[in-house]
Amino acid sequence: MPGLLEGKNALILGVANRWSLAFAIARAFRREGAEVVLTYQGERQRATVEDLADELGAAAVLACDVTSDENLDRLAADLKSSPGRLDCVVHSIAFANREDLARPFLETSRSGYLLAQEISSYSLVAVARAAAPLMRSGGSIITLSYLGASRVVPNYNVMGVAKAALEASVRYLASDLGPKNIRVNAISAGPVKTASARGIKDFSKVLSGVAQKAPLRRNTDPGEVADAAVFLASELGRGVTGNVLFVDAGFQVMGL
Ligand code: NAD
Repeated sequence: MPGLLEGKNALILGVANRWSLAFAIARAFRREGAEVVLTYQGERQRATVEDLADELGAAAVLACDVTSDENLDRLAADLKSSPGRLDCVVHSIAFANREDLARPFLETSRSGYLLAQEISSYSLVAVARAAAPLMRSGGSIITLSYLGASRVVPNYNVMGVAKAALEASVRYLASDLGPKNIRVNAISAGPVKTASARGIKDFSKVLSGVAQKAPLRRNTDPGEVADAAVFLASELGRGVTGNVLFVDAGFQVMGL
C-alpha cells in the first residue's frame, strides 16, 4: 500500500537531536514515503543533524538560522534548485532565554520578550514567505504550539505569549495562503522531554501533573505528534486549515 505522503517533498526545520519533535515527524514522514530536507540551526548542530539525516535517508541537509534573512533567502534558493517543489513544511522551532522560563513573567525584559517572539513566532511568517512560492501545487505548513498559548502554565511565561502570537499567525497565514491551496495549522503537543523543554524550570512537575490528570492518564508520545503531522500533511487533512490540533492525551479539556 502506498504511504500517505508518497510523492511529497517536505522541508523540516527544528531537528536538534533524536529527541526533537521534528525528528519524530521526519521519521514518520519518511515512513509514509515523503522525501525530506532537514535544516540545522548552526555549525554546533551540523554533525548530529547530518548523522540523523543519513539514518532517515533524507534528501538534503541545509543550514538555517531563522533570525537571519540571508539564511532564509539562501534556504529558499537552495530548495528552488533541489527539490524544486515543496508540498509540506514543518516549523518546529522555539527559543527563549532560560531566565525568562524561571522567574515571574512580570520580570521579563524587553529584549527577552522580543527574542522569544522573533524566534518562536515571527519565524513562522518568514519561513512561510520563503517556502510558499515553492508550494506550487498547494501544500501544508505545520507548526508546533503548546497549551501555554491560552492558559497560564507555571514558568512557561514569555514562551506562552510567543505561542499565542504563533497561533494567531497560523490563522492569518491560513487566510493569506488558502487561495493558493496552502493550508497552515498548528499541533499543540502535550509536554515531552526534549532539550527545549528541559530549559523550563520544574518541567518534570508539569509532566507528572499531566500524567495524573489527562483523560488518557499518561503523557504524550512524540510518535503521536508525528502521526498528527502526517495527517495534516496528507490528503486526509485537505479540509483543515487555520486550526490548532491538540495532541496532548486530552489534558486541555480538564478544569481542575
Ligand atoms: P528541540 O530543542 O529539540 O527543538 C527546538 C528547535 O528549535 C531546535 O532544533 C533548535 O535548533 C531550533 N531553533 C532555536 N532557535 C533557532 C534559530 N534561531 N534558528 C533555527 N532553529 C532554531 O525541542 P522540541 O521540544 O522538539 O521543540 C520543537 C517545537 O515543539 C517548539 O516549537 C516547541 O515549543 C514545541 N513544543 C514542544 C513541547 C515539548 O514539551 N517538548 C510541547 C509543545 C510544543
